[in-house]
Amino acid sequence: MPAYEYLCKDCKRDFMVFLSLKEFDEKPKITCPHCQSDNVQKQIVGFYVKTSKKS
Ligand SMILES: [Zn+2]
Repeated sequence: MPAYEYLCKDCKRDFMVFLSLKEFDEKPKITCPHCQSDNVQKQIVGFYVKTSKKS
């Protein structure tokens, strides 16, 4: 199950959320587990970033 990293803009803490692609597709409301705020921002997680440049 993919993990998504979020940053809470209220308490400035980050947290991971585990969602299936289907769940994520339904745009669930993510709330901060620390302060229950929904003022969260999805972080870019570089799992798929591969620098395979050919020189
Ligand atoms: Zn928070």
